[in-house]
Amino acid sequence: MTVLVINSGSSSIKYQLVDPESGEAIAVGLVEQIGESTSRVKHTYDGEKHEYEQRLADHGEGLRFVLDLFDSVGPSLAEAGIVAVGHRVVQGGDNFNGPALITEDVRDLIEELAPLAPLHNPANLRGIDVARELLDVPHVVVFDTAFFQTLPEEAARYALNREVADRYGVRRYGAHGTSHQYVSHKASEWIGREDLKQIVLHLGNGASVSAVVNGEAVDTSMGLTPLEGLVMGTRTGDIDPAVIFHLSRVAGMSIDELDDLFNKKSGVKGLAGENDMRAVWDMADSGDENAREALDIYVHRLVKYIGSYAAVMGGLDVIAFTAGIGENDDRLRAEVLERLAPFGVKIDPEVNAVRGDNIRAITTADSSVTVLVIPTNEELAIARQTMDVVATLS
Ligand code: ADP
Repeated sequence: MTVLVINSGSSSIKYQLVDPESGEAIAVGLVEQIGESTSRVKHTYDGEKHEYEQRLADHGEGLRFVLDLFDSVGPSLAEAGIVAVGHRVVQGGDNFNGPALITEDVRDLIEELAPLAPLHNPANLRGIDVARELLDVPHVVVFDTAFFQTLPEEAARYALNREVADRYGVRRYGAHGTSHQYVSHKASEWIGREDLKQIVLHLGNGASVSAVVNGEAVDTSMGLTPLEGLVMGTRTGDIDPAVIFHLSRVAGMSIDELDDLFNKKSGVKGLAGENDMRAVWDMADSGDENAREALDIYVHRLVKYIGSYAAVMGGLDVIAFTAGIGENDDRLRAEVLERLAPFGVKIDPEVNAVRGDNIRAITTADSSVTVLVIPTNEELAIARQTMDVVATLS
């Protein structure tokens, strides 16, 4: 049995055919630049990468092209035993605390939530609509926000005027929830205990941190949108909101210009000129002071969140690093953990420096906190949650 996992963006469709039991990604692919003069398609199956360039006018054409690829280069979806499609959806608002079978009502709710995620939900829906037309199996949606529906009100509610906040749905919904849930669950499995106070650091191009007690999220850094919290590849993360009023008044910047500045031209890229951490380290190593300062600001923000979440939880058992930077950047992990030495965190530098795809502890046995590196796998998590919903249908 397999699940086709689809992550549909505004001009892209990422997909994976996953065996939810073994965890194997049988085929992996990506359609990019949909609607532009040339679209690019990459499809990997059986160790072979197939690449195509051709115009694909919309998501429907994109997905049709992908389904033809499954027929021509394989694997045949029928023979691979496809039982469902799992769709990633960014914003589920307060309506979804877990995965849901797509019905007309669920579809309409996702559409109604579009004002909360204008860049994401409409793009997710485009993928859902064309996939439902083309693939006659149950379709399930898995929300990035669902894991954070357990947040206590004191963490989810901003100290914004209650009437305004409630009328416009302004509160902390979080994001990357599928990854935080998957990784915190893996950490529990690895340690062999449920009753843990954990901090999960999902550090990719987007970055977020969550506090998880006994498997339930109690706080997270992303807010109404993925802009809040950590320093990210191109996003500011936390910043005084009055900077917006200030730049609007003194620089005459429009809301759209500010949105672009905060989301796409700031963060590590806005500080160092590059957003790939490998390039930033290279620059810092060759004496670029802005790059070194960008790393310092990045680490400072992480340390600040770890300290505050340990205080919020009243203790800390586990820190889990995940995603592109969290899994691969041993120097960054070392800089963060060295700052926690006064609290009894003891890094094992040799183990930290080793690359690997397995879960591993990078602290010594006598460290006050166990620090783990855990590869995330959002597609597998979506495939498994999809199967959970499908199992309730029969
Ligand atoms: P996303 O899914 O948010 O696009 P990923 O989780 O794939 O992001 O992470 C991408 C980021 O991981 C890249 O921007 C890069 O900075 C970082 N990264 C990948 N490999 C390394 C490495 N070896 N050292 C440092 N950073 C790395």
